[in-house]
Amino acid sequence: MSPVYNLGFVLMTETIKPLLSVTQLYKSYPLAKGQCLHAVDGISLQVHAGEVLGLVGESGCGKSTLGRCLLRLTPISSGKIVFEGHDITHMKESVLRPLRARMQMVFQDSYASLNPRRRIGDLLAAPLQVHKAPQGTKRSPTLIQERLHELLDLVGLPPSTLHRYPHEFSGGQRQRINIARALTLSPRLVVADEPVSALDVSVQAQIINLFADLQERLGLTYVFIAHDLAVVRQISTRVAVMYLGTIVEIGLTDAVLLSPLHPYTQALTEAAPRPIVSVRRPLALRGDIPSPINRPPGCRFHTRCPIAQPRCQIEEPLLKNVAVEHQVACHFPENKTSY
Ligand code: SF4
Repeated sequence: MSPVYNLGFVLMTETIKPLLSVTQLYKSYPLAKGQCLHAVDGISLQVHAGEVLGLVGESGCGKSTLGRCLLRLTPISSGKIVFEGHDITHMKESVLRPLRARMQMVFQDSYASLNPRRRIGDLLAAPLQVHKAPQGTKRSPTLIQERLHELLDLVGLPPSTLHRYPHEFSGGQRQRINIARALTLSPRLVVADEPVSALDVSVQAQIINLFADLQERLGLTYVFIAHDLAVVRQISTRVAVMYLGTIVEIGLTDAVLLSPLHPYTQALTEAAPRPIVSVRRPLALRGDIPSPINRPPGCRFHTRCPIAQPRCQIEEPLLKNVAVEHQVACHFPENKTSY
């Protein structure tokens, strides 16, 4: 079931300062022979407190790199990142540390993100020991134990979890532990990078429900990265569609996924394994996603676009408003692809 949207949310996002704001963000990796891999190629977006921004796109489109850049887990090439009103783009790590407590990440690989040699209790307590209590004093062992029990209760795991090792848990249970660890320091923003894609479908539903429940109870804000559109629709307030390092369509979830205007979003929704809308025949994209080292000139989607026209090969389309809270980067967004 998709979230309920109302005009209040739209008006709110226009009047309240965003929790996270990114302007012209670039992240490239230099390669041999003077070449460059452009993973994130000039992205600007805002994330508002209390919303879930879903980030979708094919593998290699740059969505995971963008997620890491948002939290400054990887250095950016250029651009500006503002979190809670603080420009964190070039903030020193020592100054950034208190803010880091309020922005956390949940990774796809639940096993690799937990040290197999340490008990869960030690793993969950580590952030509390590194980041001192709000007053700057060290938390007592009793307070830490209380907090750990509270966290396990939040994610639906028994207290005995604290004494066990990561390999003793299933993938779903380990992801619950990862979520608990992300919540240890009471963050405001959580970036979840494909948090359910390695799980069985039945377990996926439980973890998505847990994310939704925690968001409601704790007032969290998520950037939710996934390639499964059904999963994204279930939890997101807004959706941003990425292609070759840039956003090609962004808007309220149902507007983007039920009435997509960019040909790439249309192809994604029509080809989804669990259909978002019923279609007579899914639209198959031509060819593979081009290399981010030599991206096509003009519209970067023109080599695969079924309605590309000569202008598309020359002029890069910019994100433009097509409705309230709905932007599309296409010269011909009104032309539906035919099938
Ligand atoms: S700008 Fe042209 S090539 Fe790009 S998506 Fe739109 S129609 Fe297709």
